[in-house]
Amino acid sequence: MHRPFGSLILPMSMHEKSLAELSTALNNKYISSHELTLAYLDRIEAHRDLNAFVTVDRARALKQAQAADARLKSGQSNVLTGIPIAQKDIFCTDGLPTTCGSRMLANFVAPYDATVIQKFNAAGCVLLGKTNMDEFAMGSSNETSFFGPVHNPWDRRCVPGGSSGGSAAAVAARLAPAATGTDTGGSIRQPAALTGITGLKPSYGRVSRYGMIAFASSLDQGGPMARSAEDAALLLNVMAGFDPRDSTSVDRPVPDYTRTLDESVAGLRIGLPREYFGEGLGTEVGRVIEAALDQYRKLGAKVVEVSLPNSRLAIPCYYVLAPAEASSNLARYDGVRYGYRAPEYADLWEMYAKTRAQGFGAEVKRRIMIGTYALSAGYYDAYYLKAQKLRRLISGDFDRAFEHCDVIMGPTSPTTAFEFGSKTDDPVAMYLSDIYTISVNLAGLPGMSIPAGFDGSRRPIGLQIIGRYFDEARLLNVAHKYQQVTDWHLRVPEGF
Ligand code: GLN
Repeated sequence: MHRPFGSLILPMSMHEKSLAELSTALNNKYISSHELTLAYLDRIEAHRDLNAFVTVDRARALKQAQAADARLKSGQSNVLTGIPIAQKDIFCTDGLPTTCGSRMLANFVAPYDATVIQKFNAAGCVLLGKTNMDEFAMGSSNETSFFGPVHNPWDRRCVPGGSSGGSAAAVAARLAPAATGTDTGGSIRQPAALTGITGLKPSYGRVSRYGMIAFASSLDQGGPMARSAEDAALLLNVMAGFDPRDSTSVDRPVPDYTRTLDESVAGLRIGLPREYFGEGLGTEVGRVIEAALDQYRKLGAKVVEVSLPNSRLAIPCYYVLAPAEASSNLARYDGVRYGYRAPEYADLWEMYAKTRAQGFGAEVKRRIMIGTYALSAGYYDAYYLKAQKLRRLISGDFDRAFEHCDVIMGPTSPTTAFEFGSKTDDPVAMYLSDIYTISVNLAGLPGMSIPAGFDGSRRPIGLQIIGRYFDEARLLNVAHKYQQVTDWHLRVPEGF
């Protein structure tokens, strides 16, 4: 058989290929899923110092790859059959550890697969490994992980963002062709921005949360993290859809997200929220966003100013609601049924107390305390109820803005990747990392981050694109058109 890439060179250059290219190579038998999976497993091994993965089970991945090869041979394959995917360690995987970045779940092996994992399995994808993350997805730097921080492949002294930092670093360093993430307040988009990859947080209800360990249930949403919008569209095709096992999943048809990628953006109305360009925005980030907007103007889009007047309330609102929901969700980790249990205790009460004191890290405890306080009888009206009202206002801002535009654009993160330790002593400074992303979760809208340039230290900068409810296809289309005329998304950090 003619093997155009050459069988020896092939595994080495495979990590440069898009999902569509890999799919063609697999379906034409230029490469097997086994070879491809092995090549990625070797890359993961060679770059273990990034700490992007918590669990990699080579034998299991290779076995799954062999099954995919059989399926490819039989002609029963899908587009992504045989492609290895890295899964954030927040998705339950049958028979493989699911730690959620916590000591509390360090030894937890789920007896079932999350719906997202089931869907990737059904598509014939290979589970390459479970990626490192902030503990219970609480964080913006990956520094809260029990398994240690992930390094940003663009600059190892810097954080990759969080909480889906392992997935972001893995895709950026080409240790995986693509990955999944989850986003409660920015955890797909902010790490995507800080590592120069493409990430999409779908509308709330688009992707099933069944088997996705809960942080703040009314905000959590899983989504794709990939090299390009085209790759993200292929992943979303697999991930999206109604799930009767998730009562908040929405029963609404799933379009083929690749079908509209090439539509023209001429006449597209881009809303620019004036509140996103004020104090706090890094000058280099601002400059790159302006350049990206110019690119869209060249493609025929129109830029209009819009206003999201309640933006400044998004962080305080989120930091009441998310901890409130988290304090309730995390009550289940009591050492009784699963996960960590303190080795020594005098009675049941002490067992609970010691288990939670030892099993959770500082940030998780902070959230549980804030949440419990906000929900306590005397304070409920002052905090939780008030925050719910703010949430309504924030979401109303978007409704009004979308009367004047089709998508909203702005920075994903106010700064580029920051150095380890630079914000760990100041939780509020860390919380500000999500100033432009959090309101999107509060409103339940889809949002995306795509690579748009670099700062003077060659650290990536992301452009955020926010859409109307269930307008993921348009976001992907708008991102794809930009990626056809730019090559930021094709840049790979040195040494990878
Ligand atoms: N950084 C935010 C937090 O710590 C958002 C995290 C997320 O989206 N999971 O809550």
